[in-house]
Amino acid sequence: MNSVVVFVVFSWFGVVGRSSAVEVREKESGAKRSSQCPRITSKEKRAISKIECHKSIHKRVVHREESLHPINMFPTASLILILTLVHLLDAATPGAEFSYSGENGPDHWPGVCNSGQYQSPIDIPKHGHEKAHMEPFVFENYDYTAKGVRLENKPNTVKLEFLANEHEVESTGQVHDLDHSMHVSQGGLDHKFQLAQIHFHWGNTDNEGSEHLLNQVAYPMEMHVVHFNTKYGGHLLDALAEGRGANDTLAVLGFFFKLTNKDNEKLKPIVDGLQFIHEFSSETELKVFPVSDILSEDLSRFYRYTGSLTTPGCNEVVIWTIFEEPIEISERQLRQFRDVSQLHQRMQNNFRPVRPLHKRTVLYVDTSASSMASMSFPLTLISVALALLIAKK
Ligand SMILES: [Zn+2]
Repeated sequence: MNSVVVFVVFSWFGVVGRSSAVEVREKESGAKRSSQCPRITSKEKRAISKIECHKSIHKRVVHREESLHPINMFPTASLILILTLVHLLDAATPGAEFSYSGENGPDHWPGVCNSGQYQSPIDIPKHGHEKAHMEPFVFENYDYTAKGVRLENKPNTVKLEFLANEHEVESTGQVHDLDHSMHVSQGGLDHKFQLAQIHFHWGNTDNEGSEHLLNQVAYPMEMHVVHFNTKYGGHLLDALAEGRGANDTLAVLGFFFKLTNKDNEKLKPIVDGLQFIHEFSSETELKVFPVSDILSEDLSRFYRYTGSLTTPGCNEVVIWTIFEEPIEISERQLRQFRDVSQLHQRMQNNFRPVRPLHKRTVLYVDTSASSMASMSFPLTLISVALALLIAKK
């Protein structure tokens, strides 16, 4: 998962505000509509304005929660809370304070990162998972060519954001009209989940890089397609605040990459853009492409489990889907990712080591019709046997 330190903020909101059902109702009554950030057209001002806008959202959320929570009785505590939130939001931009090695490495990530029982990534067991059948995923608007695609050099990853078709606003939050936003449903998901962003994890050698392992084997890269549950709001941050730590707040689709000899032409827009974001905190506009192009061709078989963000604060709010079929990438294309820089070093090995499964179940899901037929075969036999018994009588 991406380095979104603001998630810490919302997990805090989850704790601080969990006791207040009143504020949930207040937000559902439409208060969240006022927390949308305006569309930002100037590329130069976009990053700054977006941060300022999100700061103001946070301040409004803080204000609403303050008025309803006992902490309101302690103005000093409230002030500290606000200042800390602003500090964390600032920290969410350049130079997020975590890394994948050393004193800020995974062994030192705080809180639930180390104490949680539902942490990600995991080693997906070859045996010991349960088979299941679900309806196939329904991807809506993923074949649209977005108005624009932005590739960003973020702390510890590179991230793709999409400007939605027609509305010229970001799919990361400003499109509340599900008819026009990219969203996914079915596939065992109870609601519609809207696309927020896509990012990558990779290694500096070919035998490491993916966050999830498959039977103890790593792939050289893994892509995370991050969605938020629209039942909690029309924006990633709204959903995290409103979800209050619910384990269905986000749905992340994970894709492994495997090396091939020739370039994967469908990755060309992204790979071509990487050379323009070698510098830390840089960004570039990409040649537009439909998101459906860069997903695995076979989306019918996947692993499903409940887990967490894979960066601090490691909030346990994610329905994970890891597709079985990897995406192809050439050595040359993968090298473009490895050449991206971060402050004084190259951005490599940006993956979290696997965490214990504990008591969780991993489902192996096959959504194909043939799977349904094979799973229902024993039931059919029982039905026939019962019918014969009844007929004999
Ligand atoms: Zn990720």
